[in-house]
Amino acid sequence: MNPTHPPLMSTHEVFNQAPPLEDSNLYARNLALQEALAREGAGGAHDWMSARGAELGSAAMILKAVQANKYPPTLKLFDNAGNRRDEVEFHPSYHELMAYLKRHGASSEPWSKPGPGAHVRRAAFYMMVAEIEGGALCPTTMTYAVVPAIARDAPLAAEWLPRIYSQDYDPRFLPAQQKRGVTLGMGLTEKQGGSDVRANTSRAEPVNADAASREYRIVGHKWFFSAPMCDAFLVLAHSPGGLSCFLLPRFTPDGRLNEIRIQRLKDKLGDRSNAGSEVEFWGASAWLVGEEGRGVPTILEMGTYCRLDCALGTAGLMRQSVSQALHHARHRSAFGRLLADQPLMKNVLADLAIESEAATVLALRLARAFDQQDEQAAALRRMLTPAAKYWICKRGPMVGAEAMEVLGGNGYIEDGTMARIYRQMPLNSIWEGSGNVMCLDVLRAFAKQPRILEALAAELAPALGRDPRLDKFCARLKDELLRPEDVEARSRLLTQNIALAVQGALLVRFAPEAVSDAFCASRLSDTGYGGAAFGTLPGNSGFASILERAWPS
Ligand SMILES: Cc1cc2nc3c(=O)[nH]c(=O)nc-3n(C[C@H](O)[C@H](O)[C@H](O)COP(=O)(O)OP(=O)(O)OC[C@H]3O[C@@H](n4cnc5c(N)ncnc54)[C@H](O)[C@@H]3O)c2cc1C
Repeated sequence: MNPTHPPLMSTHEVFNQAPPLEDSNLYARNLALQEALAREGAGGAHDWMSARGAELGSAAMILKAVQANKYPPTLKLFDNAGNRRDEVEFHPSYHELMAYLKRHGASSEPWSKPGPGAHVRRAAFYMMVAEIEGGALCPTTMTYAVVPAIARDAPLAAEWLPRIYSQDYDPRFLPAQQKRGVTLGMGLTEKQGGSDVRANTSRAEPVNADAASREYRIVGHKWFFSAPMCDAFLVLAHSPGGLSCFLLPRFTPDGRLNEIRIQRLKDKLGDRSNAGSEVEFWGASAWLVGEEGRGVPTILEMGTYCRLDCALGTAGLMRQSVSQALHHARHRSAFGRLLADQPLMKNVLADLAIESEAATVLALRLARAFDQQDEQAAALRRMLTPAAKYWICKRGPMVGAEAMEVLGGNGYIEDGTMARIYRQMPLNSIWEGSGNVMCLDVLRAFAKQPRILEALAAELAPALGRDPRLDKFCARLKDELLRPEDVEARSRLLTQNIALAVQGALLVRFAPEAVSDAFCASRLSDTGYGGAAFGTLPGNSGFASILERAWPS
């Protein structure tokens, strides 16, 4: 039977909407990233990055990211017969993203295949992945970050490093010794204290009195325990010798499920693809990492690598925000002209592009400090890691909000990419050392290592004499750093200005003049914006060249 509906009424034609931004090579259009990759010692990865950029920007990869977030993980506490499982089930797309990251070395390659530029190459790749999906990056970061701590403990290293170094992703819920590759997580934060880990109440008791025995039982809890399907975790607990770091596997060596009880999954803002959880330890088996009582320094080293990734991740999110905004503005007209051609919108877009480029160059410069072995690099790394994490992650949510606004109402709708980016933005500022904690860490670095001021000066020196605004900013920063009064209360401003000085120095040396000039005018000069909204560059800035560089047409 033929339907006898009347012909469909045509209510309107859809036009003046930007097509989805997909099948665009994330690397090929990111000149700032290409230049920084070469400059910071990983130029040999150019072709490799180009191939990854094409994959990551493809419609197929974007679909995986969408699906992994649309169908979030679920907690399976018990099996059908009532046995405890404490298992989390994920959408297949999440596993595919994890496999992609592991296959391309994001969780271990600088350790398993060390060499010049190894951390920078990984960093640049990580930034591109962050543009597309954030959830799978969480266990990837933690796995990468645990390696130095484990490497120092010979028996644990012999057992765990080969599995960590494996580039096979094996999601099966099995004892680690039966798997082709593993991921690791970390458990520091408890209900009564996250930043202040000394407030931890979890307790670890040695299994026997033999001093040589490294096995303990942990009783306690963790309030944030991301990626609970990892194969093992570094956790902090009080043992008889003080606050100590332990490796806590998901299964005990005899193949039993370890006594890690998942209480519930976190209903969090930001990515939905990765599971966050709350857990209790009911006498869980764990092995001491390093010395008893030295848990904080052990885990802080892990924290340093996580902080690098926070800066990288947010720089990647910023880059995708700028790409989305520019793409939209070049397709959408209002009041008879493309948005991208309107003077005020050009200012907003250029200002966002400058922020993104500044984040990119700073994040990759920081990554190079992880490749460099000398004392000066170590001093720079010690101070610049919290400073870069602080400033890039503080700017991220503002970039996300402004880029979203460029898309108008479409930006606010979950169908598009901007809403997901915006929800993700605050996370890197909070976890693994929230803003204030980073600023206090910068002060601690200066107080403990006098050579840090020297390392900062050496970093800035080659840029001096090229732009008077940068020169003046750096001179004032030095005075402010040497002034002891109210230093804790001033530490946000100091940290921000350290990051701005390093960004300015890099841009003045290496970016086109239009970019560095607008950066110095708006971020460093006395008449600059001082933290106001984006779109406040001087009216005579080189908008056309800034925008063409940011998103070559
Ligand atoms: C999605 C997500 C995933 C996470 N995953 C993990 C995980 O896998 N493992 C894990 O261990 N943790 C994890 N965390 C926890 C995270 O690292 C902590 O939330 C963070 O370190 C802050 O600790 P807190 O929540 O206890 O806040 P608090 O420590 O109470 O801090 C609250 C605020 O006070 C500020 N503050 C603290 N001390 C000072 C001071 N001396 N002076 C001035 N200001 C101060 C902080 O900067 C912050 O703004 C996760 C968090 C989130 C949101």
